[in-house]
Amino acid sequence: MSEIKQVTDALHAFRDERDWAQFHNPKDLAIALSVEASELLEVFLWKKPEEADVARVKEELADIFAFAFQIAAHYQLDIPQIVSEKMEKNRLKYPVEKAKGSAKKYTEL
Ligand SMILES: [Mg+2]
Repeated sequence: MSEIKQVTDALHAFRDERDWAQFHNPKDLAIALSVEASELLEVFLWKKPEEADVARVKEELADIFAFAFQIAAHYQLDIPQIVSEKMEKNRLKYPVEKAKGSAKKYTEL
């Protein structure tokens, strides 16, 4: 069993012990993921990047992954596969010869 599957199973067990599956539809999971992403931003707000509290970064990242994994599970998506597929799209959008050393969006390259 993959580590992602093990983590997702543990998240589902935590959810089911609390009878929270009724709340965990993909829309609300996506909203929760966005809220957690904002909490991650808050860790950096008004600080230099190196001043961020890494313990808080760790916690907010864990929240983000938890919701992302549950959304993927809802749609029976294979996380390594979908990330790999998206990276292939990004390789085409950002060819090395155009994108190397540039922070421009692909539409500006
Ligand atoms: Mg959080």
